[in-house]
Amino acid sequence: MLIDSHAHLEMPEFKRDLEAVIQRAKQSGVEYIFTVGTEKKDWTRALEIANSHPSLYAILGVHPHNAKEIDDQTYPTLRELCREKKVKAYGEIGLDFFRNLSPREVQLKRFREQIALAKELRLPIVVHDREAHPETLEILKSEKAEECGGIIHCFSGDYEMAKVCMDMGFYISVPGSITFKNAENLRGVVKRIPIESLLIETDAPFLTPEPFRGKRNEPSYVRYTAEKVAELKKISFEKVAEATTANAMRVYRMKVG
Ligand SMILES: [Zn+2]
Ligand SMILES: [Zn+2]
Repeated sequence: MLIDSHAHLEMPEFKRDLEAVIQRAKQSGVEYIFTVGTEKKDWTRALEIANSHPSLYAILGVHPHNAKEIDDQTYPTLRELCREKKVKAYGEIGLDFFRNLSPREVQLKRFREQIALAKELRLPIVVHDREAHPETLEILKSEKAEECGGIIHCFSGDYEMAKVCMDMGFYISVPGSITFKNAENLRGVVKRIPIESLLIETDAPFLTPEPFRGKRNEPSYVRYTAEKVAELKKISFEKVAEATTANAMRVYRMKVG
C-alpha cells in the first residue's frame, strides 16, 4: 500500500479523466491520495472530489504564488471549509522566491498569518519552499511551527535544513524529481534522512518521474519515487511503502485500519 501525500487532482489537467486517474492509482496500490487546493477557485473542487471518493482527502490553503490575492474573505472562507472532516492539513503555504508570482514581502506576511491560522484550526501545515530556505526556516522557528508540525513538501534543501525541520517534528516529502538525472543533491539528502521522517508524493500534474518525464504526472506514478527511495536506502520496496504510509497516517492524524 502506498500513499500519494500531495497531488492536485482539482487542476484542469485532470478534468477530462479524473475517474480513470483515481482508478489507475488504486490498481497501482495507491490507497490514499491527498489533493491540495492552492487557491480560492480550487478549494471547493478539491473538497468535492475528496467528499465523493473514500480514498481521497483534501488539503486547503493559499499557495505563495497566490498570496497577493488574499483579501478580507479569504481566511473566514478557509476557516469554514477546513472544518470539513475530509480536510487533513492546511496548505500549501510558504515561500517561492524562484517564480516570485507574489511580492516577497506579501509572501512572508501571508506565510506567517497562515501558520497562525493552521494552529487555530489544529491542522498540520504543508510547506512549499522554493529558493527560500533561510527565510522558510526563520519563519517556521519564529512562528513556533513545531506546535502544529506538518510536512516540507517537494523538499529541496540540504541535510542540515532537513535536520532542523525534523527536530521541529516535520516530515520531509520527496517528489518524482528524485529520479531525474540532475537530482544528485536530493538523492544524497534522502539517503541520510531516516525512513521514519520520509513521505513520498507526486505533486501531480507536475514533476513527472522517469520513465514518464515530460508527460502529465498522476498519483499512480508515486511508485517510481518509492522504488528510487528503496534503491537509495538499500531497503525493500515493501519497507518504503509500509514506512511512508505509516508516516502519512501519523502526520495527517488518520486512524490505521
Ligand atoms: Zn508546492
Ligand atoms: Zn503542490
